[in-house]
Amino acid sequence: MIRFFIACVACLVASFAQAVDLKSVRSSADQDSSRVVLEFSGKPQFSHFNLSNPSRLVLDITNLKAKTLSPLDSIDDSRIQRIRSAIRGNGRRLVFDLSGEYRSNVFALGPKGRYPHRLVVDVVGYVASEKASSRSAPPSESAEPLVEKRDIVVAIDPGHGGKDPGASSYGVVEKRVVLQIAKRLARRFQSEPGYRAVLTREDDQYIQLKDRPRIAREAGADFFISIHADSFPKNRNVRGTGVYALSLRGANSELSRWLQNTENADDLAGGVDLGDVDNDTRQVLLNMSMESAIRISKQAGESVLSDLKDAGRVHKKRLGLANFVVLRSPDIPSLLIETGFLSNRSDAKRLSISREQEKIAAAIFEGIKRYFEKSPPANTFVAWRKQNADQRMIIEVNRGDTLSEIAARYGLSLQALKELNGLETNVIHLGQKLEVPAPSR
Ligand SMILES: [Zn+2]
Repeated sequence: MIRFFIACVACLVASFAQAVDLKSVRSSADQDSSRVVLEFSGKPQFSHFNLSNPSRLVLDITNLKAKTLSPLDSIDDSRIQRIRSAIRGNGRRLVFDLSGEYRSNVFALGPKGRYPHRLVVDVVGYVASEKASSRSAPPSESAEPLVEKRDIVVAIDPGHGGKDPGASSYGVVEKRVVLQIAKRLARRFQSEPGYRAVLTREDDQYIQLKDRPRIAREAGADFFISIHADSFPKNRNVRGTGVYALSLRGANSELSRWLQNTENADDLAGGVDLGDVDNDTRQVLLNMSMESAIRISKQAGESVLSDLKDAGRVHKKRLGLANFVVLRSPDIPSLLIETGFLSNRSDAKRLSISREQEKIAAAIFEGIKRYFEKSPPANTFVAWRKQNADQRMIIEVNRGDTLSEIAARYGLSLQALKELNGLETNVIHLGQKLEVPAPSR
């Protein structure tokens, strides 16, 4: 989560000067598109255009200071060969050399929560090497595309916060216990190879409901889980957990609202590209995306529910369908989990005990993980591990070998190699045995 703490201390300092700094760069990719998010100390003044033969995206930022472009070097993306920069007037010109005939788009996002001013660069299209390999000569070892295996990103949303405490009973306050459970859940994903967790809030702050899925989207989340606790004072015997996905009836009316809001359309992740298409096409694209998100939500929800059943008492034995605001992302499968009833004395007690919180977190984690192990998103480490489950081999570290060089040799990212071998640091020693993917036949 550390990488999502973007230092914004310089924002205020820089705002009275016109010039902006490049603070950091994030990138993510899936089978349809790549996204690069550039974060600035102030508002970037920009324009962009595309060139072909070879395919390039040119991004002029007229108030970008020259000295700080090193974060761009960290971009490792199959659609973006490299990013060059040149001084242009008082600013900089960035040229994205693309590895194929991709469509690209750039848009700005203002400061939001912990995020400063951003420019989002989307590059859309299937990776050229995947297309090429299907019609060219039989694949050899060296033709294996070196595509980075990304982590599955799970956004965890502790309900309420700040001025909104949520339910409370028997001295237990919802916003507090759901934050504790969410953090336990995040720790589980963080320590699991191939997964990464993002929290929508890490402390007692108030975040509007509609901003919560947006935080997840900006982090490139594959899944969104909102953690809550229920209350039903009319009948204090009611207790247990419940799992909810978005109901399709709610989804349809939500879709038409989305379509009317162009800001939402611009904000959509690479999963649905709503570039220059007419309204009917947008409707069809969004419909497909939303139906698929709901289908995934339901499958993962059943999986979580069965683990929660094993862990303790569930209130609703079947997956609930509801129209909660935080579940209405057309592009991110989402679940809302009511972890128990604070109006019930034993549930309230259970939710405030560390050991019980850990049990709930473990059940949710196992459920989500089980779903993703079965159906991992493309280009992820988990997908790669599944495909190569029985195609590994052991190598021995030779004199002069470095971890990054070994990773490159076997088509892995450094992180993937470390995760595969459970390594904490980049230090290896002579004769050490490492697990690597066997060359494909
Ligand atoms: Zn709640």
